[in-house]
Parts: sequence; structure tokens; C-alpha cells
Amino acid sequence: MTEYSPVGHCPSCGGTLSGYDTRTKRFAVLCDADGDWPVEVIIHRAYCRECGRIVVPEEPFYPGTRIGSPIVDLCTTLASSGSHGNVTAFLDRLGVKVDRWSVRSYCHLSIPAPKTISMFGMQLPASIIVLSSLAGDIAQGQKARGTDVLAACNFPSRYLGVTFSGMIFSSLFDLSALVIFLNDLLMV
Ligand SMILES: [Zn+2]
Repeated sequence: MTEYSPVGHCPSCGGTLSGYDTRTKRFAVLCDADGDWPVEVIIHRAYCRECGRIVVPEEPFYPGTRIGSPIVDLCTTLASSGSHGNVTAFLDRLGVKVDRWSVRSYCHLSIPAPKTISMFGMQLPASIIVLSSLAGDIAQGQKARGTDVLAACNFPSRYLGVTFSGMIFSSLFDLSALVIFLNDLLMV
């Protein structure tokens, strides 16, 4: 599983960070003929030894959501030209499981509409396209940097105005799941 951790020093006082706790978040649920399989990431929080502040790493999730931000982008973009049920059916063909009620709830989030790019005869979120190019790098044996992934996702965890200035995050994002469905996307 991919892990996201704060590194460096406390953004408030510059103090030394220590591990605080670890939790797992579901990034996506993929489905194929063998059933459903969740893709999860591990989020490590840290605390400052000087001021006690809990420091949360940047992560590829919009605040208050329980699924990866590229999936939310995909749902809201596709929903702009189809019903929630159609979005669910389309994603199912891509091997991504999202029920129509979840699609509807993502469409009601108070987040800006994602940037989109016209590709394969439809509008797709830029985050997905940029991630697919990172996936290409991985296929060539290179590692995607977490900072690149977060940039591709447009830093979704910042949407509540939380600032992470001065923080450097070292994380590695498992793109294999995205690669699978992007490969499928190309065949649609
Ligand atoms: Zn501190």
C-alpha cells in the first residue's frame, strides 16, 4: 500500500516531528470478473515534539471525502454529460466501482469543477490524464514522486484552505490500479 507521511519540521514552530498515528484510507474500489478489490493508502500523522501540534500529510483526497480525488474528478466530469446511473455504468466498464448515490454526493461537494481535457471523444479530468503520464514513467521503471502525484491531483487536500507551506512530503503513490483502468479507458 502507498504511504503518505509528513517529513521535515513542524510548520508552526519548526520543531522536530515524531510519528503520531497511522490510518488506512480507501482510495478506490476496483472490480473485475473475480470480484471487488479495494485500493488503500496509508496516512501517517505526526506530532511536533515542541508545540504538540498534530501534522497531517498532504494526501490525494478532497477534505471530507472517502475516495481518491481522481475518482471524484472522474465522477463529476462524467456526470456533467450523463446521469449518475450512466456514470456508474461507465465506470463499471472501466473496472471502477462507484455507486450512483456516491456519484451524486461527489457532484454536491463544494469544490471547484476539475479542469478537463478533451480526449477519446469525451471530456476527462486533467488529473487523470496527468496521472496516466506518470504511470507511463513507472512502466519504464521509474518511480513517481508523491509530490508529482499530488500536483497532478491539484493538491486536493488543500481545499479547506489548509496551508502546508514549508512542508516537504515524501510519499510514493501506487499507480498500478490507475494504470489498469486507464489502459481500459484507451480501449473504450
Ligand atoms: Zn511545533
